[in-house]
Amino acid sequence: MQPQSRIYVAGHRGLVGSAIYRQLQQQGYTNVITATRQELDLRDELAVRRWFDQQQPEYVFLAAAKVGGILANATYPVDFLQDNLQIQTNVIAHSFRTGVKKLLFLGSSCIYPKFAPQPIKEEYLLTGALEPTNQWYAVAKIAGIKLCQAYRQQYGWSAICAMPTNLYGPGDNFDLQTSHVLPALIRKFHEAKVQGQPQVTVWGTGTPRREFLYVDDLADACIFLMQHYDDPEIINVGTGEDLSIKELAALVQKIVGYQGEIVYDTSKPDGTPRKLLDISRLQALGWQAQTPLALGIEKTYEWYLAHAQGCTKA
Ligand code: GDP
Repeated sequence: MQPQSRIYVAGHRGLVGSAIYRQLQQQGYTNVITATRQELDLRDELAVRRWFDQQQPEYVFLAAAKVGGILANATYPVDFLQDNLQIQTNVIAHSFRTGVKKLLFLGSSCIYPKFAPQPIKEEYLLTGALEPTNQWYAVAKIAGIKLCQAYRQQYGWSAICAMPTNLYGPGDNFDLQTSHVLPALIRKFHEAKVQGQPQVTVWGTGTPRREFLYVDDLADACIFLMQHYDDPEIINVGTGEDLSIKELAALVQKIVGYQGEIVYDTSKPDGTPRKLLDISRLQALGWQAQTPLALGIEKTYEWYLAHAQGCTKA
């Protein structure tokens, strides 16, 4: 990938795509192309076909996806399965057809079996049953991985697959019904502080463990992989450290400066007990995450204060 290469970031308005877009600009790539959802519906095969014929990108970061937290997955199973299958199949197929040199597909750590040994190695894919709360998304992402591997096997095409752990950062979704845990906690603690509420409710038991990667670090890893990785095997992207939801809640509470009490709503699902990625494959290539969790949460809270307040409904 050269500074003047024609690079398409699919999903540039989303958490991941916007971070990749920012990072490419910062690193001096001058020919990055994008399309908004209004300009190009990636679920529409004909529209994607025409767009690729016209635009002819050389490199593609496939960061477009229907995403959401534990409740959103359970509420919109068709969207999570069908939209993602359509988006990824259209982008992968027409990238190949129009001569894209290399494509990076973004998966997720939820593709791994619910009870995978920890930390999770790439080879544990498809060795056990999935976590039911996000199976729809996981099955779509697994199909995307297999499609990339199939194109490589049948045509020798350079499609690579990165599996990020739970992500957070500027541009995240702070809607309490559909968001992931970290932005939800920032918003809950902030609103409770401002409104003087005595309690904040955290879902589940607080015992599940999660690993969190700052999205700008993921973007850096994606560009690094585009430059240095060309292998059929999927590759994990994480920090190598996790913490319990209870520990996360305490950390967010402190950063936001909320004095009240935390209560747990155990009628809400815990999801998978733990999903810490084994990142030795990525480390061996020489990449490591840079942003400590507390700093990342501070930056995300700053972003929330500047952009997101009042924009989302409870
Ligand atoms: P997951 O990693 O796919 O399970 O997705 P989430 O980020 O939505 O949830 C992670 C964990 O945080 C689960 O155990 C949730 O029950 C827990 N959690 C606690 N409070 C919240 C909250 O307010 N929103 C969400 N989405 N999850 C929460």
